[in-house]
Amino acid sequence: MVERLREQGVRDEVVLAAMGSIPRHLFVEEALASRAYEDVALPINYGQTISSPWIVGRMSELLRNNGDNLLRKVLEIGTGCGYQTAVLAKIANEVYSIERIGPLLTRTRIRLRELGIRNIYLKHADGMRGLSEAGPFDGIMMTAVIPEIPEILLEQLAMGGRMVFPKGNKQQYLCVIDHTAEGFVETILDEVMFVPILPGIINR
Ligand code: SAH
Repeated sequence: MVERLREQGVRDEVVLAAMGSIPRHLFVEEALASRAYEDVALPINYGQTISSPWIVGRMSELLRNNGDNLLRKVLEIGTGCGYQTAVLAKIANEVYSIERIGPLLTRTRIRLRELGIRNIYLKHADGMRGLSEAGPFDGIMMTAVIPEIPEILLEQLAMGGRMVFPKGNKQQYLCVIDHTAEGFVETILDEVMFVPILPGIINR
């Protein structure tokens, strides 16, 4: 998988090492385990999907910004199965991750604990408001598509920090927002396909 990611243009060796060290097959149902290393998004129940390895590599690389972003504290919105969370836990000191579907998060919590990943804090909530009590964050990653980033999330991005997320509706693009001394600077990148960000929480 790591070799293919290199061929697909993921360059950051820190990200590649992190992805190579996490057993991705443990994040999908057993019936799909044999496909876990293919470059596809796979279903993880509740109508959600685990992002493809290329997406995880690309977004993680963008968040690190070639190592320029030290990633002391990272916020992830849309924990899902927790694979991206586990990768973030390897490349950041502290990871906060929010998921709106309770039962999905319960499974992920157990999985990440079993893997011995400790520098994460998982929260069952609507992530659209972020987690201001834990911010500001050096990196914010959203793994569900949104038409426009709410002001309240931008306020939680530290100076010098970076946010990576899919932007749009039907047509979606990876988008980066940098918090610079001159303000928030947005860059539009690759065309992608994500499930939408949804309001509210699901308990069971
Ligand atoms: N990174 C995850 C991606 C899962 S898909 C993985 O690879 O498994 C996107 C996730 O975002 C879903 O789990 C979905 O339930 C979650 N999500 C959607 N809207 C949300 C919201 N408002 N707050 C928190 N999580 C949300």
